[in-house]
Amino acid sequence: ATPASTPTSSFEIRPSSNPRTVTERGAVLADLKFGTAFTDHMAHATWTVDAGWQDRRIEAYGPLQLDPAAAVLHYAQEIFEGLKAYAHPDGSVWSFRPEANARRFARSAERLALPELSEEDFLDSVRTLVHTDVDWVPTTPGSSLYLRPFMFASEAFLGVRAATRVDYLVIASPVGPYFARGITPVHIWVSDEYARAAPGGTGAAKCGGNYAASLLPQATAAARGFDQILFLDSAGENIEELGGMNVVVIGRDGTASTPRLNGSILEGVTRSSILTLLAEQGLDVQERDISLAELVDGVRSGEVTEVFACGTAAVVTPIGRLAGTDFDVTVGDGEAGPLTRDVHDQLTGIQYGTREDTHGWLTRL
Ligand code: PMP
Repeated sequence: ATPASTPTSSFEIRPSSNPRTVTERGAVLADLKFGTAFTDHMAHATWTVDAGWQDRRIEAYGPLQLDPAAAVLHYAQEIFEGLKAYAHPDGSVWSFRPEANARRFARSAERLALPELSEEDFLDSVRTLVHTDVDWVPTTPGSSLYLRPFMFASEAFLGVRAATRVDYLVIASPVGPYFARGITPVHIWVSDEYARAAPGGTGAAKCGGNYAASLLPQATAAARGFDQILFLDSAGENIEELGGMNVVVIGRDGTASTPRLNGSILEGVTRSSILTLLAEQGLDVQERDISLAELVDGVRSGEVTEVFACGTAAVVTPIGRLAGTDFDVTVGDGEAGPLTRDVHDQLTGIQYGTREDTHGWLTRL
């Protein structure tokens, strides 16, 4: 892949003295998994309450020095983002709505009492890292460079208050297509035992603690033979989202419904993009409360024709079966429905540069 002309950046590039060889990199790129391999560099900046953001740099990827009293290790003051860089057929590299991730990162920071990183710094860090490690952007079909910006409290202090020293980093991981054999429906367990978030909590923020809280529920679903868990609201009534994806329900009546942003759901960039695409196709898009009872009845009666989950990692994931303690229903014939496939193809077409980006969603890196 080739970068756009070298941008001016406030991130100083300090090249790794020990980058992988072309052969080593080629071996990684020839066998892509999710989140196991990382590029040669990372973006890094440090914030202190007195000096603000400083020491913006691109440095060798490697272990961090962290004081055992660093607040993040005790009170989980941490946020992150996830977005991808895509190589287009002409070799140019693009990201998808990165400003939406930057804004969500700022909202997460506010909720976790972390300092705001400007949209400019966010985009600059991502762009400069991708430029530095552009040879790591995979070009095989369906692959991408997954970017993981994150920020955490690094101050060594055991008092419970917002840290006065914070680190911000971006690491990058070349990843293969989520579904190696085309899009495969998943089976979902609906949790009536655990909630992921509650009103007034941190559900709308992308903070590590939310994911820590989802691991046991996810493990119980896996132990029952299900792929993923669907969380309900804290009252156990309305559906919310999966551990890392939003949910969309397609009705025979031409509706596309998704849980409204009630403060405990993460506002997915994929969710918002898909709602736009579905509305343009003439579907009646509704962001509203969807009760579990309504969903299960609709699937049973055939009123609900397709259900899918969506997020950056897997793009669009059809849901073939939904089960909980007192129900077990198959959506349609259990396979990926036509709208699910179509919206998947539209979105990936835009991301990979084979369809026109009529919405201005792509940013050249
Ligand atoms: N919900 C949760 C809890 C998530 O972690 C994610 C992934 N960021 C999403 C939804 C989907 O968001 P996006 O489309 O921005 O990846």
